[in-house]
Amino acid sequence: MNYTKYIFTPGPVKMHKYTLKIGAKQTPYFRNSDFSKVLLECEELLLKFVNAPKKSRVIFLTASGTAGMQSVVNNLLDQNDRVYLISGGGFGERFGEILDRSKIKTTQKRVNKDDNLQYIKDEKIDSHTALIYNAHETSIGLKYDLFSLGKFAQKNTLLNIVDAISLFLTDEVDMQKHHIDTLIISSQKALALPPGLCMIVLNPKAISRLKDVKDIYFDFKKYLDNGLRGQTPYTPAVTIILQLQKRLQKIDKKGVDKEIEKRKFLAQYFRDSIEDLPIKFYTKYMPNGMTTIEVENAFKVVEDFEKRYNIILCPNGGELKERIFRVAHMGAIKKKDIDYLVKCMFDYFKKRV
Ligand SMILES: *Cc1c(COP(=O)(O)O)cnc(C)c1O
Repeated sequence: MNYTKYIFTPGPVKMHKYTLKIGAKQTPYFRNSDFSKVLLECEELLLKFVNAPKKSRVIFLTASGTAGMQSVVNNLLDQNDRVYLISGGGFGERFGEILDRSKIKTTQKRVNKDDNLQYIKDEKIDSHTALIYNAHETSIGLKYDLFSLGKFAQKNTLLNIVDAISLFLTDEVDMQKHHIDTLIISSQKALALPPGLCMIVLNPKAISRLKDVKDIYFDFKKYLDNGLRGQTPYTPAVTIILQLQKRLQKIDKKGVDKEIEKRKFLAQYFRDSIEDLPIKFYTKYMPNGMTTIEVENAFKVVEDFEKRYNIILCPNGGELKERIFRVAHMGAIKKKDIDYLVKCMFDYFKKRV
């Protein structure tokens, strides 16, 4: 295992000392009021950070983000629905596969790397009931225009289901301003916690549309019932929830806007610092959490950086494998970590030209 501190992948990301410390402790018993208080505080802070409307709720699933994507589809949609799915890469395709296996009628809107859908707000579509998209298509680093998509959902009365797993805490996600009905968040991206916890925020409209589902583990109604007293129906990722509480408290002290500003600063600092290198930014619409870089032999670059500099960058698969790699700006990275990365990039790419 390479436990380097220079990890620039979009999940898992570098963790903070204060969450690492909690991870080193014994797991406490959780069916008691102490733990209920923790879970209720996590719910309250998450709702605050995404400006959820009154009577919204959070479901805490012990599973990775994809379980959130799958279970949202199971709990909110059925054969009577027709979904308008935005697909700009691997994560959009994942929703496509989930919907396909669930036999839910779907129209796929394919978008390319330079399309953030800002024009969609005035478009009319008939006979669709839900909109699904990944706020940040992490496979290529493309951020969509949440405001315009929200208007589009509102205009066409679509249930707006948003996977904001890699955008939460790096850019503004506002359930009211962006007309979001269901939001999916996960622990190992900008929350900078270990993987294993997935959170679903439901507004009252989404709650009113919950279905009866076959499987018991992902039955949202059970989670909502138990959540009223700060509990989950089955053993949750207790330690990650304790780490989540600490992380949310820390962010809340300065406000979520400050956290996003910090991310914006780091992303901009990185992008400005590498301007003179023989590389290109892959898309015009980058989130603050990640920069996707286009360069020859991209996969080899990623391998070389680990070997030579002990830096973990994020490679791509498929046809983009040799064309792009990704650099995340999430988690406990500081300006000096970026300075080290930039120094190494200059060393590497200047030698190459
Ligand atoms: C990371 C991520 C997920 C979750 O993937 P898991 O591997 O299941 O945790 C889902 N959607 C997006 C956009 C992501 O970036």
